[in-house]
Amino acid sequence: MASGEEKMALGGYICNDCIDSRIACADYDIATPNLDLRSSPFRKAANGLGGQRGTPSNNDVHELLECSVCMNLMYPPIHQCPNGHTLCSNCKARVHNSCPTCRHELGNIRCLALEKVAESLEIPCKYQVLGCHDIFPYYSKLKHEQNCRFRPYNCPYAGAECSVTGDIPFLVNHLKEDHKVDMHDGYTFNHRYVKTNPQEIENATWMLTVFNCFGRQFCLHFEAFQQGMSPVYMAFLRFMGDDNDARKFSYSLEVGGNGRKLVWQGIPRSIRDSHRKVRDSQDGLIVPRNLALFFSGGDMQQLKLKVAGRIWKEQ
Ligand SMILES: [Zn+2]
Ligand SMILES: [Zn+2]
Ligand SMILES: [Zn+2]
Ligand SMILES: [Zn+2]
Repeated sequence: MASGEEKMALGGYICNDCIDSRIACADYDIATPNLDLRSSPFRKAANGLGGQRGTPSNNDVHELLECSVCMNLMYPPIHQCPNGHTLCSNCKARVHNSCPTCRHELGNIRCLALEKVAESLEIPCKYQVLGCHDIFPYYSKLKHEQNCRFRPYNCPYAGAECSVTGDIPFLVNHLKEDHKVDMHDGYTFNHRYVKTNPQEIENATWMLTVFNCFGRQFCLHFEAFQQGMSPVYMAFLRFMGDDNDARKFSYSLEVGGNGRKLVWQGIPRSIRDSHRKVRDSQDGLIVPRNLALFFSGGDMQQLKLKVAGRIWKEQ
């Protein structure tokens, strides 16, 4: 059996010790950066592995590629101590030149053999369980995963650092349960934002409301911030889903009072774009504070903004 042979070939060149502790690359004589890989037995083993997904030997190599310190997969430059214990470059920078496994001085030894083995591997996207069935050469996998459409979304709640990630149904529930966000059914809305001391823009509140329509969810953000020297209020809509789907929708926002009115029409932004990014791109309804107070009745004491909105699906 081919996979059995490969396993043996590999096993012959990596001591058992190393395999057990998930560290790789050599108690044999290759602990020098000048290893000639073309004649290395390691290379043969690696060639045999290419394209054989999910075989036991492939999984073993996969494990060898996990950093023994942080357990993440390692990418070049992969480092090793003179005794062959490997670690990723992030961890190497943090261990003060001492091997975390054997305490030997680390020095600056690249593990080229392991880097080459990695190059020959093809492994599934790490979001396989979320629905991605693509398989990639090791070094392009990372790039794919950064843009994989199955990758989890970040929590769209702004104003607090929330590190929760997940798919949309999970995040909708999380917004409701953990952030106590208001949920509304329907594609039109009328919102009133009231603030008693609108001069305190630094501590100005911001709000998030979620709308449920067309079987999808939209986040309406409303907030105050300093734009250059002038305080402004801003309202914008984000779509809980990918950019491609976001573009199938449009929305309008209207704010006014005292016989005046400002209207904004836009396309909701995917929550793949951070709240901060959307805000900074000014892709929404922006009301300067003086105008906002004028809309509010003009007594300059209280902010009372009525925002009417509508979401629709483009044909
Ligand atoms: Zn690491
Ligand atoms: Zn070591
Ligand atoms: Zn993927
Ligand atoms: Zn959250």
